[in-house]
Amino acid sequence: MRDDFNQQTKDMLSKRAGAKCSNPGCRQPTSGPSSDDSKAVSIGVAAHIHAASEGGPRYEKFMSPEQRAHISNGIWLCQSCSKLIDVDPARYTVGVLKNWKKQAEAEALAQIEAGRILQTRVTQLTETVEHDEKLDLDIAGDYFVAAASDIRNAAARMALALHEDRPVRVLCNYPEFDKIKPIDDGSVPGAFDSVKLAAYRKEKAAKGRRIAAAIELAFSKACFEPWSLYLQDLDDWYLLLQGIPRAFTADRTTGTVEKLAVWRTDEPAIQTSIRLTEAEVRDVLATTGLAKMDYLAFGAGWRSPDELSKNLILDKVIPNILRALTTSEIGRRPELSQIVNLPSWHIGRD
Ligand SMILES: [Zn+2]
Repeated sequence: MRDDFNQQTKDMLSKRAGAKCSNPGCRQPTSGPSSDDSKAVSIGVAAHIHAASEGGPRYEKFMSPEQRAHISNGIWLCQSCSKLIDVDPARYTVGVLKNWKKQAEAEALAQIEAGRILQTRVTQLTETVEHDEKLDLDIAGDYFVAAASDIRNAAARMALALHEDRPVRVLCNYPEFDKIKPIDDGSVPGAFDSVKLAAYRKEKAAKGRRIAAAIELAFSKACFEPWSLYLQDLDDWYLLLQGIPRAFTADRTTGTVEKLAVWRTDEPAIQTSIRLTEAEVRDVLATTGLAKMDYLAFGAGWRSPDELSKNLILDKVIPNILRALTTSEIGRRPELSQIVNLPSWHIGRD
């Protein structure tokens, strides 16, 4: 029995490696034009890190068939390098191959020119979109007040600003401030008096500034480059833009059945968490290839957040990382691109 990768996994491995051999000493392109003008030929191989069948190189008997066929057990190589690693498994260890993979994926990401993939969608919008440098987002309580179409438009405007290399400035307003009037006559015990209302406004304004900072960070080049794999078109930006304020509010706990810690062990060590609904738990199990959440417990084998679905990454993981970054000065560090790179983070159960 061979636990082979399915086609989707193979395609994803190829894409993530930038369609080049992951051996740093090789880097041969693995796809090129065919003699038939309408086709491309692929000479790449989705090789197994731990062998697909018993007796093979680096075989690990404790792995399940799903784990062996999972994307985390694959590495994209050219044909000759895929033979090379299997002939000499003592030299090409699991550690060596995992390092190759990590490095190749990081290089492929760096080579995706920021904004290029957004160009097609964004260019269509340039005529309808205003070129404001500043964007006002209305937030009432814990939610966006702006109609869905307005958030979409906001996402388009910010993606465009990023594409045109203009900084995005975001202001989060709390429109209900105007509606709340202090009751100072003592007639209602515990009601908002002027002092309480001032404190409440101060607290809401501070949260608004943090949400604004997180959104500005999300639409910065430093974050776009490492996250461009997940931000391919406006629907993706839209999902992210909606997820950010939610990461700051109590709303993120609604319907929660599981909590996953998300953290970095490298400096700067940062920790946050994501809360999952039942449907999201199923999604996590499907994408990680695990049978149950227990396998994500501390010590049982942490995974990387980039193994999760794109939806979960945009809706929960990235917004919560942004939240963690804005609580400190980390959002301003020059090496931010490396810090926010998802493979440098782990996910696991508390
Ligand atoms: Zn090669």
